[in-house]
Amino acid sequence: AKAEGRGAYRFFTPALNEQMHQQFQLEQDLRHALEREQLSLHYQPRVDMRNGRILSLEALVRWNHPRHGWIPPGRFIPVAEATGLILQIGPLVLRQAGQQLARWRDAGLDPVPVAVNLSANELYQDALVERIDDIIKQQDIPPRLLEFEITESATMRSIDCAVDILTALRARGFSIALDDFGTGYASLNYLNRLPVNAIKIDRSFLADLGATETARHEQAAAIVKAITGLGNSLGLEGIAEGVENALQRDFLLAHGCHIAQGYLYSRPQPATAIEPLLRAGR
Ligand code: C2E
Ligand code: CA
Ligand code: CA
Ligand code: CA
Repeated sequence: AKAEGRGAYRFFTPALNEQMHQQFQLEQDLRHALEREQLSLHYQPRVDMRNGRILSLEALVRWNHPRHGWIPPGRFIPVAEATGLILQIGPLVLRQAGQQLARWRDAGLDPVPVAVNLSANELYQDALVERIDDIIKQQDIPPRLLEFEITESATMRSIDCAVDILTALRARGFSIALDDFGTGYASLNYLNRLPVNAIKIDRSFLADLGATETARHEQAAAIVKAITGLGNSLGLEGIAEGVENALQRDFLLAHGCHIAQGYLYSRPQPATAIEPLLRAGR
């Protein structure tokens, strides 16, 4: 029994320890990164596939770590959410996006709207709406130039609160997109209550379009068609995320979705690389 106990102990501890250590290190590094503002934004265009025009941009946070290089948000955003550091990242992202919009405006460019992601913890934070008001005032940005993306699952945490907050944002003139749509199992009745302008079809559904295994393709095709039809009948804009090839583009266009964000058109890029696209693409 003793040997068994020791075995069990050894089975759990080293792996758990290692994982905890890594998380802790990442958290510490992230604190430093925030103090030194080592986080910056890349921007990915959303394109009208019918004419190639850029309609808006999504701001995506990037961390340039002095020793480890670029760390993708998929690695540090979950840690930031678990540790509360997201409540510092959110304001930084919002401020940088506001500054960038002001810079483009001052350079004589006619900026397109920039969409900022709000995590669940940020959405339900008391001061969110005031904080957004402040940025808008400081940079003198018209609300139509700022959009927010909220995941379907974040709104499901507390539907009544989510409706109130989104209503307050809409009243100020901001647009709202429901992110990762189709992955959160929200009911139709529920979607109907949320005052959103757009739904973003999660890229996991697009990835299976054109799969060599016919059943997989058929299933993905049915889901993409259903989401597009739902959006159109509710008067919501549909944005397809992760469009990488012509097959996906043609399928979407044939089924009534014409806005895409994906590598076929552009990867997320720093503001300096976006600028020529803004000059040419409108
Ligand atoms: P998301 O909001 O679903 O963002 C879309 C992700 O899809 C981005 O990954 C983007 O680079 C990627 N993507 C776009 N087109 C394609 C494509 O054609 N193919 C493939 N394979 N990927 C594509 P990214 O930038 O790594 O961000 C990952 C996630 O991190 C985001 O998913 C979002 O949940 C979170 N995130 C990023 N920036 C922020 C932020 O400022 N605040 C918060 N709260 N979360 C953020
Ligand atoms: Ca997003
Ligand atoms: Ca998304
Ligand atoms: Ca996604």
